Order: sequence, then C-alpha cells, then structure tokens
Amino acid sequence: MSPDEDYDSESEGLDDNGIGLGVSGQGNVPASDNDTILRPKRIADMVGQTEVMDVLHIAIDAAKKRGEQLGHILFDGPPGLGKTTFATCIPREMGVHVEMTTGPSLKAPKELIPYLTNLERGSVLFIDEIHRLPKPVEEFLYTAMEDFRIDIVVGEGVNARTLNLALQPFTLIGATTRAGMLSGPLRDRFHIRQHLGYYDVEDLVEILMRNAKKLRVELRPDAAEEIARRARGTPRIANNRFLWVRDYAMSKSDGVVTKGVTGKALEMMGIDGIGLDRQDRRYLETLIRVFHGGPAGVEALGHTMSVSSDTLEDEVEPFLLRSELIIRTQRGRCATPRAFAMFK
Ligand code: ADP
Repeated sequence: MSPDEDYDSESEGLDDNGIGLGVSGQGNVPASDNDTILRPKRIADMVGQTEVMDVLHIAIDAAKKRGEQLGHILFDGPPGLGKTTFATCIPREMGVHVEMTTGPSLKAPKELIPYLTNLERGSVLFIDEIHRLPKPVEEFLYTAMEDFRIDIVVGEGVNARTLNLALQPFTLIGATTRAGMLSGPLRDRFHIRQHLGYYDVEDLVEILMRNAKKLRVELRPDAAEEIARRARGTPRIANNRFLWVRDYAMSKSDGVVTKGVTGKALEMMGIDGIGLDRQDRRYLETLIRVFHGGPAGVEALGHTMSVSSDTLEDEVEPFLLRSELIIRTQRGRCATPRAFAMFK
C-alpha cells in the first residue's frame, strides 16, 4: 500500500499543517468510510483519557524539542477504546510517516524486515495485537527496538552469513487487548506504557455530539445520553449504535435522533438498558443455566456458545467484569448475585 493511501479522506494524507503523512501495511484492515470520518485526526480532537493525553503531550513535546524520535509506546485495554486512534494521531503530531501491521500477520522474522527497512528517521511502526506476535518475530524485534539494528541471515548451509543491518531510529507503537500475555522482555522494551480504561457517559456524549456534527445528523442531547449509557463505556460501540439509530430515525421517522427513536432502535437490536447485547446476555444465561453459575472455564463457555474463547475474553468478559456481573476465579468464571437477579 502506498503512503497516504486510505488514511484520511478529508485531508488526503496531509494534516492540518500540510505535513505529509503516510500509512502503509499489508496487515491493516481498510477502514470503512464512517470509521475514517469519525476517527479523530489529532490528539486534541480526542475526548477523555486525559491522563494518557497528558503523558503523550509531554513525551511528544520533549521529543520534538530534542529533535529525536519518540520512545516506544505500548497501549493496552479492551477493544474500541482508542488504541489505534492514538497510534494514528501520534505520528501526525510528530509530522512523521507510519507503517501499520498486526501481530498475527507477521508469521516469520523475514516478514517484519520490509517494515523495518522502510522506516525513515523518526517514523512510527504500529503493531496491533502485538501479544499475538510469534516468538521468533518478537525476539527479532528486540535488537531493532533497543539498538536500531537487525541481524539478517543470507544464503544457506555452509554459505550462510549474518549481515548486521542498521535501521533508522524509529518509534514502535504496540497495541494489545491482553497486556498479561506480553512477555517480560518485550514489555520492558517499551518506554511508555499506557492503559486505556472505559469512558464515562459524559465523554461518550461529547464524542457522539461531535460525530453527529461530522455526519450532519440532528442528535438530541437526551438521545445522545441514552446511546452513551448503553455503549458499555466504549467509543466504538457508541459510534456503531449511533449509526444504527441514525438509520432507524431516517427510515422510520424524519431523521431526527430523539430519545424515543433511540429507545426503539436499540430495543430492536436487542440492546438492554445497561448496554448488554444479545451475545452478552447469552454468555450470562449459559453461565447460569448450563453451568449453574460457575465456576466455568472460558473454553467450555466458548464451546457451548460456539464462540471463540478469544472473543469472549476480549470483547464480552471485560465489560461483564466491570459491571460486576461475573467474577474470575482460579477455577473459572462465576456469575454474581447481580447476574442471577437478571435471569430470575
Ligand atoms: P482500538 O484500537 O482500541 O480497538 P480504535 O482506536 O479503533 O480502538 O477506536 C474505535 C473508534 O472509536 C475510532 O474509530 C474512533 O472513532 C472512536 N474513538 C476511540 N477513542 C476515541 C476518543 N478518545 N475520542 C473520540 N473518538 C474515539
């Protein structure tokens, strides 16, 4: 993928200062139009996560003043909270190029080499789902991160030689939904580690009101609050539910997103008052009815529901844990009295 492609339809690869910014990478899933429009372009356009932003502002400011690359940054937290958004805003702030890929798409060290050798001085390499890097690829990254050099073996058998290749100083940004699965040596090579937590309702309302403006949709404040309350503290979910409510309002009424329309639209999607969707409720129902409230292993729950245990761990359980509907014990997951009360 060439630099500047499929990144920013509004500014065609140029940021507000006219700085050229490219994104490339075969592992990157192309964003839908709405995703491209709604994703903030600059850190200042992002809402919430103020502690993370404060840290980043200082790091970016200092790196710019020194005229050096930023230190390596690791973001962790559940899906949809802004890890990729930060990773695309930071290079803009620095005025540098970014290469994007994902952990599972890098099957062998040789697949990482083009990314590393393409990097210019100070540019960013973003690896999403970095906890899923195969071990040999992870180990190959160590010297790249620490000394900006890599060892490449050329030739085979008795003719094999090791070439030591110097890289341009760069910044690695890693994102993970499972910080606990990252090995100690990899984790320790990141200079800045930031956890992204769930957003409160006010922040989600702010995000939705801004996005309604971008999409030129009339969104009533009480409707925004209703969507935000049912968005599981997650901007991606808030945006997706808003897009659905917008379509519903357009099809069933005059296009204005009111609280009444919002309630009907979300009900039709099976989203309840605290934002649980059908899959969340199925999880709780399976845990309570099939496993008598637990303890149950996530693999067993996944098999019963025909859903991968990764999906349950990454997308379903974090919010249920936070809502005190389940607890995790050494013997497995257990439903709390609050969850039992929902299914009485
Ligand atoms: P992650 O990489 O953590 O899965 P993303 O960065 O892809 O999450 O965020 C999903 C969407 O949520 C983005 O496209 C963006 O529209 C929205 N979003 C995330 N964080 C913020 C934020 N802090 N402010 C405004 N919108 C946000």
